[in-house]
Amino acid sequence: MTMKGQMMGMPLLISSIITQAVKHYGNNEIVSRRTEGDTHRYTYRECELRVSKLTQAFGRLGVKQGERVGTLAWNGYRHLEIYYGVSGMGAVCHTINPRLFADQLCYIVTHAEDQYICFDLTFLPIIEAMAAQVPGVKGWICMTDEAHMPKSSMPLLCYETLIEAESGDYEWPVFDENSASSLCYTSGTTGNPKGALYTHRSTVLHSYASALPDSLGCSAHDVILPVVPMFHVNAWGLPYSVPLVGAKLVFPGPKLDGASVYQLFEEEGVTFSAGVPTVWLGLLQHVQANRLKFSTFRRTVIGGSACPPAMIKALNALDVEVIHAWGMTEMSPLGTTCKLQRKHDKLSQEEKQHILEKQGHAIYGVDMKIVDGEGKDLPWDGKAFGDLLVRGYWVIDSYFKSTESPLRDGWFPTGDVATIDADGYMQITDRSKDVIKSGGEWISSIDVENVAAMHPAVHMAACISIHHPKWDERPMLVVVKKPGAELSREEMLKFFEGKVAKWWIPDDVQFVTEIPLTATGKMLKLKLREQFKDYTLPTAHA
Ligand code: AMP
Repeated sequence: MTMKGQMMGMPLLISSIITQAVKHYGNNEIVSRRTEGDTHRYTYRECELRVSKLTQAFGRLGVKQGERVGTLAWNGYRHLEIYYGVSGMGAVCHTINPRLFADQLCYIVTHAEDQYICFDLTFLPIIEAMAAQVPGVKGWICMTDEAHMPKSSMPLLCYETLIEAESGDYEWPVFDENSASSLCYTSGTTGNPKGALYTHRSTVLHSYASALPDSLGCSAHDVILPVVPMFHVNAWGLPYSVPLVGAKLVFPGPKLDGASVYQLFEEEGVTFSAGVPTVWLGLLQHVQANRLKFSTFRRTVIGGSACPPAMIKALNALDVEVIHAWGMTEMSPLGTTCKLQRKHDKLSQEEKQHILEKQGHAIYGVDMKIVDGEGKDLPWDGKAFGDLLVRGYWVIDSYFKSTESPLRDGWFPTGDVATIDADGYMQITDRSKDVIKSGGEWISSIDVENVAAMHPAVHMAACISIHHPKWDERPMLVVVKKPGAELSREEMLKFFEGKVAKWWIPDDVQFVTEIPLTATGKMLKLKLREQFKDYTLPTAHA
């Protein structure tokens, strides 16, 4: 039998992060572009006072521990206050993705049993359209002041008025660290969305680990701007890990186009940012078209979907280091980050680049493995690929209100297919649903897309499977050209020669004006497959 240790059993609670920020970095700034159109700035100290007042206000409204409060909001200081206020008091902060369809929004709000919903001015039409269908919601809180309250047929509460009425004299309650802290629904492509219910413990541990130098590497020296929305897996944990290290925090609000983000980077001296590849496409286009440079921006995390090597190169050329990261809503989200080790110092630039294109190492707290169709472990040789399974301190055990376990022998199947090399670097070859099986052999749609993205005329490219009478499936490339760029089907296909195995070269190319994106900015290949489901490849009769 083991012996019980004699150290304090202090629970890991989210409120400890904001109190740490106040005690040690109290004067550091939080800057936000607001929906009202201006820029707001205050300190961690002022933030915590308002968080305490907000908590009192929720108490007065009758919100109890364990109950859910929803948010429909951009990245901003009021959203941050709700994160800390709701979780800190022991209630559950439910971030809702406003880009979801109306019926999905209603399903989520009803399923979560949200008591109140806090929303940014921009989302008033969404609120008005759904209010009648979600009668369980007791009140709608508009995140603005009296002067900016919108006219509405619905009774609305004013966020600033609620805060002003309170003293801020509040002591953070202490409770079980396994209590639910926040809730985020996956934007799955089939079936109803499913809720990942995080705990205080999982969130604090995730924040700790993600701030490590070889994870995201956050420091009090940094000025950090999460472009990734706070409704996409808690902005990858940055609203927790940034105050934990005391860095200056910059929120972009609703304006996420390249020009607005660039301007904010320059104005606030942003050093570090995070977002999905589609966001950086817009920023890069703006910077390249106007021959701009970044004065302070030096590092960015890119994840959510595979970061094309061409994007890493383009950012490197602007002196920006890219940290490729992989994760999921079910993993809080961080699973891996890609950084080099000391032993790689001797490698050529090209060899280093090759490693950095992978999704990377599991960060401490996450354990991963790959298995074959029978569930048998596959070797870590960088070649064998199979289903990627994970477990860890911030990995889901079961979905909110679901009695079915998603686990396989204690491991969570990610739905991704990957290789892992001898050094532990993981590389995603595909989402299992997107895999292309040609004549019984797999083709990585991500690899094909990455090559296409290297062509200077390509803005975005998706590789999907199309039925083929002989090979069962063959790849087809769907391309959005850069504005004003010329590119023919033949030139695109020729570009693949020598870059991938001959049989990986797509059978056809379709040029489109737009590729549909999911609510979190990923290419919606399911939609493309539907669009081209009756398409006959020119090779079908060959
Ligand atoms: P979500 O829960 O919506 O964030 O989606 C998680 C899924 O996004 C993962 O299972 C992967 O399929 C995909 N994903 C996230 N990051 C990456 C990455 N760096 N490379 C490839 N796929 C990624």
